[in-house]
Amino acid sequence: MPSPAFVGALFANFEPIQTGDHVPAYEGKDPRFQDEPWCVNCHNRPEMGLRCCSRCHAAWYCNSKCQKAHYGAHKEICLAVVKTLKHVEQLAIPLRRASFANSENLFETEVGTFGQWEDTRVYMAARSNLVDAYWIAASVVDIKDVWEMALYHVLELQRLDVDGPFDTHLVTPFILLSLHRDDDAFDYIRYHLNMIDADEETIMELMSRHVAFQEGDWIYPREKNCRFLSIFDECPTVNSPLVPLAFLVALLIIKCGIVATYDATFKSIDLAFEATGGQHIQEVKDTVKEMLIDVDHVKIDSQRQQVQQLVDIIHRNNPYMLPAILNPLPLASNERTEGYDRGQPSEVKDIIPYCVRCFLRVPGAEQMLEQRIGELFW
Ligand SMILES: [Zn+2]
Ligand SMILES: [Zn+2]
Repeated sequence: MPSPAFVGALFANFEPIQTGDHVPAYEGKDPRFQDEPWCVNCHNRPEMGLRCCSRCHAAWYCNSKCQKAHYGAHKEICLAVVKTLKHVEQLAIPLRRASFANSENLFETEVGTFGQWEDTRVYMAARSNLVDAYWIAASVVDIKDVWEMALYHVLELQRLDVDGPFDTHLVTPFILLSLHRDDDAFDYIRYHLNMIDADEETIMELMSRHVAFQEGDWIYPREKNCRFLSIFDECPTVNSPLVPLAFLVALLIIKCGIVATYDATFKSIDLAFEATGGQHIQEVKDTVKEMLIDVDHVKIDSQRQQVQQLVDIIHRNNPYMLPAILNPLPLASNERTEGYDRGQPSEVKDIIPYCVRCFLRVPGAEQMLEQRIGELFW
């Protein structure tokens, strides 16, 4: 869980995505997201190349002038990344050492069950904190490489231990969504939902998977375009009260993203045809729409329906969740209660820092939720 120093930064990046005539049509991606690093101070990419912060490797600058100008804003997160990284490395030493416990390197001998050793608990918790440090660094700079660092560590925690620390399950879908890897987020959730009533054989298969992969690897099954599938057909367990709230909210974001992309594409086609006018051109409009959107694949009516169903399930499981997405600050300033209380504000508070940002960057999602909340509460 984030240390108190992080909380402010976690809640600082909630501004919704801009929409309007001057903004390019939404293509399922946050336009603020940078595939390639840029100067985090002036947002340039100089020909000479950028220099990376030599301490945290999570910020880039044109030159020392830009770096100095940004240091006030960067200092806290830079220190947090460096300190946590160092702590994790120090804690790893005795776990790797041959003289320890059963005279083996636990990183090699205990893959899959690593976290079940008393001696590894502190290490797992520290590496979880590292994920949070990278999450904050990434949400500030919005650069792919930094999101990848958060993903790398969170995947490694789960490769090391099948059960993983609970917070890793909460944050992973939102890191994937921040990287625009919606298919992977869907696969990740589908996988865990199907594990709820997995048999012995599946669990054995899972263990062999953990051992076969390398540090930081993606260990889950993968299917292209799976995000279009109906979660209710794929995982009947989605209705179970055992499903983590974070998974339901992440699924809602995936489905809202599909609807938003579809609507934005149709709107820009309509605008383009309005501008050209003429009966002839109007006649090909539907063909163009079909070319641009694989209508059979998307099944838009089902997607819209899933959005509504997910809203209902989330609201049933925890009535604090949806209002908190629209107005997270009252919960953020609450004292945090320890433990995981299903259906209570603390359950919401644990995931708010991760989900609100991802939700608000889907155009139209906020308005949809405002309307639905109106219906649910009145
Ligand atoms: Zn610069
Ligand atoms: Zn730095």
